[in-house]
Amino acid sequence: CGIVGYVGADEACPFLIDGLRRLEYRGYDSSGVAIHSGASFDITRSVGRIDSLVGRMGDSPAKGTMGIGHTRWATHGPATEPNAHPHQGGDGEVVLVHNGVIENFQILKDELIEKGYQFKSETDSEVAAHLIAENLKNTPEIEGQPNLRFLTAVQTSVARLRGTYGLAVAFRDRPNFMIAARFGSPLVIGVGKGEYFVSSDASPLAGRTDRIVYMADHQIAVLTPDGFSVLHRDSGKVRVDIRPLEVDT
Ligand code: GLU
Repeated sequence: CGIVGYVGADEACPFLIDGLRRLEYRGYDSSGVAIHSGASFDITRSVGRIDSLVGRMGDSPAKGTMGIGHTRWATHGPATEPNAHPHQGGDGEVVLVHNGVIENFQILKDELIEKGYQFKSETDSEVAAHLIAENLKNTPEIEGQPNLRFLTAVQTSVARLRGTYGLAVAFRDRPNFMIAARFGSPLVIGVGKGEYFVSSDASPLAGRTDRIVYMADHQIAVLTPDGFSVLHRDSGKVRVDIRPLEVDT
């Protein structure tokens, strides 16, 4: 029941693993990470403790400067590896982690199956991954605005979701780029220098940055190593307060 994400110049994996450990207290039954290697995603998932996820990675954890991670508290489908996040959409062009419950997942799933999408899990979350892949396919690229297509696909997709979500979304064809979206599940942004973090709460950020943004419902954030912006799902950019991070010691 936790999300972490990293985009910047450092290796993503250490932050993701350390962050998931700090989110352990929220409770979970399985976990996973996806690291963007530059060309594709390196995905590792495991049932049980973060230690077993780390064990899965062995001596050579995935290398890459962008990644997302998840601890799962199963609501749809048992705690198995195929149900563990991250989930892939389309042919792997979209990868995401999700906290919350998508109430209308069955309707969306039927639609997507009809369109030829193949589901690999029993989760409600996988629906969001394929839905974003489908909307991405239907959204043309606008010259000079390489991020817009991805943002539009996420906006269109979350507008169709009923229920709750904290999402961190990554794209195979756009490395060093991440989109976060929130409705009903907590999500914060850690603001660093040339690096940005996403997390379910502030605890993974301690020691990495002391500046934090608390996302509000219906907000979508676009993050790259060069900066971040926050938008309302249906309207334009919103101004956000960057607050000092206060951690209990
Ligand atoms: N509903 C999703 C699932 O069952 C996400 C659960 C969570 O918030 O961890 O996989």
